Amino acid sequence: MNTTRRRWLAGAAALTGSALLPACTASGAKSRVVIIGGGFAGASCARALRSAAPEIMVTLIEPKTTYTACPFSNLVLTGERKLTEQQFTYDALQSLGIELIPTEALDVDPAKRSVRIAAGQPIPYDRLIMAPGIAIDWDALPGYNENAAGSMPHAWQAGPQTTLLRDQLRSLPDGGLVVLAVPESPYRCPPGPYERASLIASYLKRVNPRAKILILDAKDNFSKKPLFLQAWSDMYGDMIEWQGTSEGARVVSVDASTRQLRTDFETVNADVANVIPPQRAGLIAARAGVADKSGWCPIQPATFESRLQPDIHIIGDAAIANAMPKSAFAANAQARLCAVQVARLLRGESPAATKLINTCYSLISADYGISVAGVYRPTPDVWFEVEGAGGISDLDAPIETRRLEAVYARQWFSNLTTQVFG
Ligand SMILES: Cc1cc2nc3c(=O)[nH]c(=O)nc-3n(C[C@H](O)[C@H](O)[C@H](O)COP(=O)(O)OP(=O)(O)OC[C@H]3O[C@@H](n4cnc5c(N)ncnc54)[C@H](O)[C@@H]3O)c2cc1C
Repeated sequence: MNTTRRRWLAGAAALTGSALLPACTASGAKSRVVIIGGGFAGASCARALRSAAPEIMVTLIEPKTTYTACPFSNLVLTGERKLTEQQFTYDALQSLGIELIPTEALDVDPAKRSVRIAAGQPIPYDRLIMAPGIAIDWDALPGYNENAAGSMPHAWQAGPQTTLLRDQLRSLPDGGLVVLAVPESPYRCPPGPYERASLIASYLKRVNPRAKILILDAKDNFSKKPLFLQAWSDMYGDMIEWQGTSEGARVVSVDASTRQLRTDFETVNADVANVIPPQRAGLIAARAGVADKSGWCPIQPATFESRLQPDIHIIGDAAIANAMPKSAFAANAQARLCAVQVARLLRGESPAATKLINTCYSLISADYGISVAGVYRPTPDVWFEVEGAGGISDLDAPIETRRLEAVYARQWFSNLTTQVFG
């Protein structure tokens, strides 16, 4: 992507982040907004709401005292980052006056507009914002359940699963086979599996150069595919083999006791199996009645308000945001816009018109990056991508550009986590 476009996108980000934030009114109304989930979406939203509308009481319900971020967790697998560098607390949010309730939200009563938690009275709200991220769909892949994840880790929710997969890679036999099973869309972080395969290859090239990586994909196309394929061939030779669904590569069942993966076509024996299973919105979404048959949450694009329940908004990975990918970048952008819209609705104002951007960086090695960026606009029905407004890294870019993209990726993560948790 050229620098002019990059500057333009940075300008658009600044616009959605600050110029649209409404000024505080002197109405004195003590509205209460409750947010479920303190990930990139929920924590960003709490913070943006606090600064957009100090007159609103903001309550964040999140059971974990430490948030473990997924972006850059693929570098934990290769030993180039510590898990602790992925972890953030909620101290800064609390110091801003955001009320933190460190527990799980068990249920939502949309009629009474309240959230049930384990101990104490239900928590009332004027507007509820739900940002519970993803849940693994344990019923979707025969043989794959919570026990199986103990030997065939998904590592798609960063934490102990990440370190388990890292440790398995460290113990890979000489010349061993690592298999990644990738699901159909939609799932969290569309380019994430391919970044993971790349970084595992960069690690194995150093410590176990005869090892192989096989990607069994339930689809034929994926984000930045030409860039990934080119970089794999240039940097890792034949170490990475990718097979798509038209080659029969969709994984239809697994056997954790033997580390076997069965596809439409064959049975594969893995030394390390990273099974990324189908996903759906965090479980509280279904309990609140805001998830549909797909397992994800339909929303009205401009306000993120649920199509199924009034006064509840859904942001981040859990929401059906159509062309917008399930990324931390998008979660943060949606959260900041949702904060503005909720503040306006509570003041009796109409929602602001806007557009959002997303950039997904991927690392092929620790110092080789590629990216894709998009601009998105809401219609009454969908978030659609504005054609020609985004950009993707050039296939012919020189190595210096790839190095710079890796630097931009690190800076993006550092800026994002400082903005949200710092
Ligand atoms: C390997 C990997 C690499 C990635 N790399 C990138 C990247 O480079 N760039 C990028 O933009 N994105 C990346 N992503 C995607 C990114 O991590 C997600 O899109 C992002 O975390 C979504 O944020 P979220 O707030 O919706 O969900 P989450 O971050 O999962 O947060 C959800 C929160 O809700 C809480 N919660 C759930 N249920 C309840 C409940 N009942 N009560 C209270 N709290 C609850 C959870 O504890 C959690 O803290 C990557 C993902 C993976 C797996």
